[in-house]
Amino acid sequence: MLKGLSDKVDLERKLGVNYLQLDPVIKNTMSYEEDVISQSPTPESVCDSVDTYNEEIKVELSKSEKVAALKKLEEQAKECTKCELSKDRTNVVFGVGNPDADLMLVGEAPGYYEDVQGEPFVGKAGQLLTKIIESIGMKRDDVYIANILKCRPPDNRNPNADEIVMCSPHLIRQIEIIRPKIICALGTFAAQTLLDTKETIGKLRGKFFEYQSTKFLATYHPAYLLRNPDDKKKVWADIKKVRDFLQE
Ligand code: URA
Repeated sequence: MLKGLSDKVDLERKLGVNYLQLDPVIKNTMSYEEDVISQSPTPESVCDSVDTYNEEIKVELSKSEKVAALKKLEEQAKECTKCELSKDRTNVVFGVGNPDADLMLVGEAPGYYEDVQGEPFVGKAGQLLTKIIESIGMKRDDVYIANILKCRPPDNRNPNADEIVMCSPHLIRQIEIIRPKIICALGTFAAQTLLDTKETIGKLRGKFFEYQSTKFLATYHPAYLLRNPDDKKKVWADIKKVRDFLQE
């Protein structure tokens, strides 16, 4: 789903429709197909509140530029009221860590503690994630951690498709700004969303894929590991692949 969305956002940008009113002259020179795409129903949800994109993001930003771009994006996310989840949130949980990180970890959505503190992965699953990160000789501050959804679903229910569509532009931009060497998806939702597949996490985990030319590997979610500790060894095997890739 996200890849399709990302391609669409990309196309919209190339067409100059990213959050700008199209000049009627430019609009008249568009082909029928381009015009239809630019008018299709999703752009409002995809684009209109996330406008940090500029051509510079196609080239590597300096660390301070990444900090500034992420700050601007976070301000926009904090204003977001695109879905119902905004009504009950205590905080938007945007993301945390090194804006220049080689490794970006993507989870599902904030839980209770994340909503209260405004930071991803600070509850029990988060403590386990910190251990997983440290197991490959890195610190939490070395990596960047974000979620597919920036607001907590009630009772920690699964994200629904609309929420993912509404929220994913924030994550797409975070990835574009940070440009990690590798993305590690944690659990079913992050893996399926970023790879645009319905394949199970059991099948997806531990294999290298690409997300928009960025190396990608999925593993089990730390919350799943808390319930299924026997699978910790599989996560250990997966995260070692991430470590080895980064050391290549
Ligand atoms: N689970 C997630 O997927 N993300 C968090 O931030 C916390 C728990």
